[in-house]
Amino acid sequence: MLDAAPPDGYDARVQRWDVIVVGAGPAGCAAALGALRTDPAARVLLLDAADFPRDKPCGDGVAAQALDVLAGLGVDPGGLVRGSAPIVRMRLESPGGVIADRPVARSCWVVPREVFDARLLNTALSAGAVLRRHRVRTVRSTQDSVTVDDELCAPVLIAADGAESTVRRAVGARPWREGTVALALRGYAAAAGSVGQQQVLRMTTERWPAYAWLFPIGDGRMNVGYGELVRAGAEPRARRQLVDALHRLAPELDGRPVDRLRGHRLPLSTGRSRLTHGRVLLAGDAAALINPLTGEGIYYAVLSGSLAGAAAVGPDPCDAYPAAVKDALGRHFAHTDLLARAVRWPAFIDAGIRAGRDAQRTFDAICEIGLGSGRLDPLTLGHVLAGLPAAVRKRA
Ligand SMILES: Cc1cc2nc3c(=O)[nH]c(=O)nc-3n(C[C@H](O)[C@H](O)[C@H](O)COP(=O)(O)OP(=O)(O)OC[C@H]3O[C@@H](n4cnc5c(N)ncnc54)[C@H](O)[C@@H]3O)c2cc1C
Repeated sequence: MLDAAPPDGYDARVQRWDVIVVGAGPAGCAAALGALRTDPAARVLLLDAADFPRDKPCGDGVAAQALDVLAGLGVDPGGLVRGSAPIVRMRLESPGGVIADRPVARSCWVVPREVFDARLLNTALSAGAVLRRHRVRTVRSTQDSVTVDDELCAPVLIAADGAESTVRRAVGARPWREGTVALALRGYAAAAGSVGQQQVLRMTTERWPAYAWLFPIGDGRMNVGYGELVRAGAEPRARRQLVDALHRLAPELDGRPVDRLRGHRLPLSTGRSRLTHGRVLLAGDAAALINPLTGEGIYYAVLSGSLAGAAAVGPDPCDAYPAAVKDALGRHFAHTDLLARAVRWPAFIDAGIRAGRDAQRTFDAICEIGLGSGRLDPLTLGHVLAGLPAAVRKRA
């Protein structure tokens, strides 16, 4: 029998895993799936503070691009969106009242997160991940391992615990910068016939950048909501003001009761997120990977989660993960950062929507920038800039 002393710092009370993932939302489940697809023998622990199924305030819009990522991880997209009808058109209304109402190149879906996340979690558990209900409070990262609440330990931890990430704070990451966080509120109402099976995004000059949405689920209900950027130095608005803004901007509600109204913050991408702290990899909202133009985050959560999971079981996680995200999304987020600054000027977004109204190709390019990893190509930019002088004159 070997009589070797345990290594320094060994504590038999600490349970060891190959990867610990904090948060079992889209980013966390994709991280678990990414790790297990790369190394099916990996021991992957998912921790979540909530009991599933759990709600998450969201527009529930699931882009085709998110389903592509999940399909690549072996998930059946049809099973995830079961019971919802495909969205075949999008209606974008600019702050100046320009309307682009066109078919979408790729259908998206509206699936209540209570349903979507529980289904996704089931696929991660079927793939071999272990789920434990546990609210993480402390995280200690050393040179070769990460310990959670003094009881769980792994060589790598993936922080997928959302916009208010505890892990992010615990590892000393910078708080969200002022002017890069949005606040949005969503609820459910009976579907309005006038909306049909299309997504409506209605922007407003009042507190721009801000918009309301009406997203039909296809089961007789629609997800409705309103969100706005929290300006640097400004007090976030009270719930009542957000609800009033929703009703003002969505006359289709027409006295319909809106239930389950809940608000949440959205940390928007600036294209400069730091993705690792020691042996902790940040994914999804915990890494501020939300599209700053649309507030869409599920696609970026599953993409970053899957890349973090794959890197976590590879040889050099802390270098491999940021490199993979940069490769997949670096230029996209550089362009959306630039565009997010440009659209602060409402004439620019008016010109953009007008260009989308006038050409399906431009409309498709705008959707790909807002929902996927699209970039601003010269043709689209030229089309938008050509309409800018007229948009400026109209506002003068
Ligand atoms: C109102 C609103 C509308 C939106 N609309 C859309 C939309 O239509 N389409 C879209 O793509 N995106 C939308 N988004 C953004 C989208 O909701 C997020 O980007 C997405 O949920 C991010 O996924 P995630 O896995 O990173 O985090 P989350 O989905 O927030 O999951 C985090 C998980 O971590 C758990 N957790 C938190 N703290 C701890 C802890 N200390 N210990 C253990 N577990 C913990 C939570 O319980 C949760 O399950 C919207 C956001 C808001 C607020």
